Amino acid sequence: MTVNQPNILLVYTGGTIGMIKDPETGALKSFDFKNLLERIPELKLLDCNIETISFDDPIDSSNMNPKYWVQIAEIIEEEYHNFDGFVVLHGSDTMSYSASALSFMFENLAKPIIFTGSQLPIGDLRTDAKENLITSIQMATLQRAGKPVIREVGLYFEYKLYRGNRTTKINAEHFEAFESLNYPHLAESGVHLNVEYDDLFKPNTRKKLVVHKQFETNILLVKLFPGISETILKPLFNSAAVKGIVLETYGAGNTTTEAWFIDLLKQTIKRDIPIINVTQCSGGSVLMGQYETSTQLKSIGVISGKDITTEAALAKLMFMLGENVSIKTFKTIFETSLRGEMS
Ligand code: ASP
Repeated sequence: MTVNQPNILLVYTGGTIGMIKDPETGALKSFDFKNLLERIPELKLLDCNIETISFDDPIDSSNMNPKYWVQIAEIIEEEYHNFDGFVVLHGSDTMSYSASALSFMFENLAKPIIFTGSQLPIGDLRTDAKENLITSIQMATLQRAGKPVIREVGLYFEYKLYRGNRTTKINAEHFEAFESLNYPHLAESGVHLNVEYDDLFKPNTRKKLVVHKQFETNILLVKLFPGISETILKPLFNSAAVKGIVLETYGAGNTTTEAWFIDLLKQTIKRDIPIINVTQCSGGSVLMGQYETSTQLKSIGVISGKDITTEAALAKLMFMLGENVSIKTFKTIFETSLRGEMS
């Protein structure tokens, strides 16, 4: 490594960015990471030292799960003191979930962890992979007074750096695949890299890094729709295996007021199963009590997800249950922003 140049670790987990077309079926599949670097000689022009590490078997991110989150986190934890920043190459399909999960895993993070990927493979003529990868690395190298500028888990895609746990994949075709509807972007790439310093997460750097690795996956995500039935919901909510529920509600956190539904929620909460209210809308916040159709939810102890994304709510629920947060403090802690995931 050259001294005085930032050192960046690239972690390749899989995704379209490093895929090739199977000549027989035409389907995209992962290929060897070494080829990825051969395809971007421009990386050598960057003012930093880049080292790479790859999953032995790169995955399509539809196969992502908490075991892989721990694998990514352990790679970064092990190399934390050897590098100034980390760029994680990841499929876009579940990137927002992973970026959210990693944000909760890394408490007191003082260096950048930037997720990126692409809509077209790196070998494609019109690929978006090169810009995403090169600028993510540049974002990770940004320093001020010898310290990294970005000290949180970010997600870079199509000219914008977002807070990872605020993002959602909104488009399966456009290069602009992600949005952060409830929080401004952290930086933008144009002729210059423009950083929104006031919007960056400010960690407590006097505290030591703690990496959390336990996730409870026995949880439910229920999206409300007109006509949702008691016959289907009751056995799901009453399952002894369920440890927590995220409820995707209408508008500002509203639900049907039918007695069977409210009663089912009430009985579930009485069994110490936390229920989180997040909105189905892409933007905006839950505000229980604003309408009559959410007043009862508030009084029976449903937890407000405020303006959190569904992806971040699921990751936070799995993380907090994994950490065995007591039921007495669960609501207060969930309703508190831990990594800038809610306003
Ligand atoms: N299916 C791919 C994945 O998420 C899509 C992508 O990489 O953008 O792994």
